[in-house]
Amino acid sequence: MVISPKVRGFICTNAHPQGCAANVHQQIEFIQSKAPYVPEGNAPAPKNVLVVGASTGYGLASRITAAFGYGANTMGVFFEKPPTERKTGSAGYYNSAAFEAAAHEAGLYAKSFNGDAFSTACKEQVIEQIKADMGKIDLVVYSLASPRRQDPVTGEVYSSTLKPIGESYTAKNLNTDSKVVGEVTVQPASEEEIATTVKVMGGEDWQLWIDALAEADVLNSGAKTVAYTYLGEKLTWPIYGHATIGKAKEDLDRAAGELRNQLTGINGAAHVSVLKAVVTQASSAIPVMPLYLAILFKVMQEEGSHEGCIEQLQRLFTECLYTDTPRLDSDNRFRVDELELDPAIQAKVEAIWPQVTTENLNELSDFALYQTEFLRLFGFGVEGVDYTAESTTLVDANFSSVE
Ligand code: NAD
Repeated sequence: MVISPKVRGFICTNAHPQGCAANVHQQIEFIQSKAPYVPEGNAPAPKNVLVVGASTGYGLASRITAAFGYGANTMGVFFEKPPTERKTGSAGYYNSAAFEAAAHEAGLYAKSFNGDAFSTACKEQVIEQIKADMGKIDLVVYSLASPRRQDPVTGEVYSSTLKPIGESYTAKNLNTDSKVVGEVTVQPASEEEIATTVKVMGGEDWQLWIDALAEADVLNSGAKTVAYTYLGEKLTWPIYGHATIGKAKEDLDRAAGELRNQLTGINGAAHVSVLKAVVTQASSAIPVMPLYLAILFKVMQEEGSHEGCIEQLQRLFTECLYTDTPRLDSDNRFRVDELELDPAIQAKVEAIWPQVTTENLNELSDFALYQTEFLRLFGFGVEGVDYTAESTTLVDANFSSVE
């Protein structure tokens, strides 16, 4: 069939297999173009890397950087929809199939699990596979973004919300479907909604993963772990930093502190890593974010400092994870969001914000780039792909499912 994007609100319900593969190959080429990857000091390069949330966005970029930068064996965990003959799979499914094929071609071990990373069964199966194929892990990347989580002990399902805390928040907002700049009012979260968001997106499951890996004795001496956060600035604080998701991210800081203590015995390290705002399936669902991103893209493009997931991860590995002089803040977090938070950049974004309207959207922001990057997440609009050609939805993939 000929596959065209089916956009519904802030998601696209299908994906293009060849487009997703081309996207993955471009990220691999970017990482290879920045070689060599030589850790500073005595730190060895990561040989065995586990990425939880490995199929899209920042997790996929982490896996590509580890494999094609440092030559690491990678194990990936994700939750993605397989294709049928009549329906495409999800983008993360195609991305991971393309990643594995490229890794195998390059002689790198790569194995993936498609299932619920929050479950105990998933952790157990992954650990068995690590024991059988890898031995011990040098780096665990925790990059899950999920709207819900089933507690592995009680079976209760918790949902996360994207709401302000204390009072309702009204802000300028871009409807990415109708391209109308209007207003959105988001009601404040209840105490319960704050707690359930922390349960889903906080540090508990990151800790359960590290506990399980440590207990099974599959963490190497000097093993590192990172989990990702966004801090942002004034414009996004009411809906992100000082909101339900921000509370969950504060809980990651708590977890990182506890993990640091726990890992001292093996000389390990745990860090929350602050990354910049980018277009991903997770961020496009956050009110205010698409308009902020469209303006940010224009300003950062003009400054020559625009970055996407892969550029951020290349810098996280080389400037924070595998260097003797990481950029750390006073809360012990790695920082690669410094270009976005540069006061001059933020001042320009803040100056544009009140002026932007439906009529001048394309002039004052780079909404076109936002749209391009959004469609690329699903494999559409990627250079070199013939979108008029017949394409099969099925691809070769050998992922393990979680029983
Ligand atoms: P994403 O939606 O692109 O990726 C989410 C990943 O989690 C996918 O691989 C998906 O398959 C996996 N996943 C979701 N539920 C799962 C489950 N139950 N079991 C197994 N896998 C599951 O999201 P992203 O934007 O790359 O976010 C990754 C992390 O980076 C999040 O912690 C997010 O808060 C953080 N972050 C994002 C931004 C941004 O602007 N997008 C900025 C800074 C930090």
